Amino acid sequence: MEKTKFIWINGKFVKWENAKIHILSHALHYGSGVFEGIRCYKTNKGPAIFRLNEHIDRLFNSAKFLKIKIPFNKNQIKKAIIELIKINKVDECYIRPIVFYGYGKMGLNPQGAEINCAIAVWPWGKYLKDKVKVKISKFIRLHPKSIISEAKVCGYYINSIFATLDAKENNFDEALLLDYRGYVAEGPGENIFIVKNKIIYTPKLGNILPGITRDSVIRIAKDLNFKVVEKDITVNELKNCDEAFFTGTAAEITPIIQIDNKLINKGKEGEITKILKDKFQKIVHGEDNNYKNWLTYVK
Ligand code: PMP
Repeated sequence: MEKTKFIWINGKFVKWENAKIHILSHALHYGSGVFEGIRCYKTNKGPAIFRLNEHIDRLFNSAKFLKIKIPFNKNQIKKAIIELIKINKVDECYIRPIVFYGYGKMGLNPQGAEINCAIAVWPWGKYLKDKVKVKISKFIRLHPKSIISEAKVCGYYINSIFATLDAKENNFDEALLLDYRGYVAEGPGENIFIVKNKIIYTPKLGNILPGITRDSVIRIAKDLNFKVVEKDITVNELKNCDEAFFTGTAAEITPIIQIDNKLINKGKEGEITKILKDKFQKIVHGEDNNYKNWLTYVK
């Protein structure tokens, strides 16, 4: 990964190399942390962070479920992110805030361990290829009664890691996980959309992370007068769609051109996918005034 100069930890800017924690940190052993992935884009008015408020709201909401009391308020975290981007002198980056139970306590009741809060930023280009081949995973998404689906918890990602390793081992670019009922859920770090007869479908909330890119794409598509339906999607519907794409902060909008052995749209990016992708790129780069509320400029 491409380094930057400073990382923010518990209120201080420290050198990238010195951003270290104790080996007995609770989260390292049990995944007891929450995090966010945010992107900052280059615009002609300087760097702009995409939907910062919504990401910070989700971070605090995730923390609440894990009984983590973040020792900073939302404004302090937002200010720290902006300051960090400035002092690292990056005009485009990925932003990773993480809050976790640290040193001082082992065992499965994390309360009493210290709370650590850190933010790193670094240039991170494409997360996925331009177009991806996807394997329906042998691993299912975590059961909504085993976890809190709307929280972005570190430990959950072991499910995504197993699915990703399995997809890569089988020469696919990315996995797609079904939910416990067998309906389409999401990718390891992306939500999914399909298009059939010009109608856009995406799995309804409940068994998936409520993605901020998902929310943005639904809004953009509706503004462009497309019909968007949130519903349970079967594997059969998925494999017989006209277009499919992933959405996520890291993945942005990535066309899916193959699912298992079935080509989607003859292995090409779909037309509606392209319309949404182009619009999304304009918005994040500050070229569409109708969505300027979604950008926080780093000044
Ligand atoms: N699902 C999962 C499991 C994810 O990790 C992510 C990435 N945060 C997403 C969906 C997409 O969410 P967002 O658009 O908010 O990045």
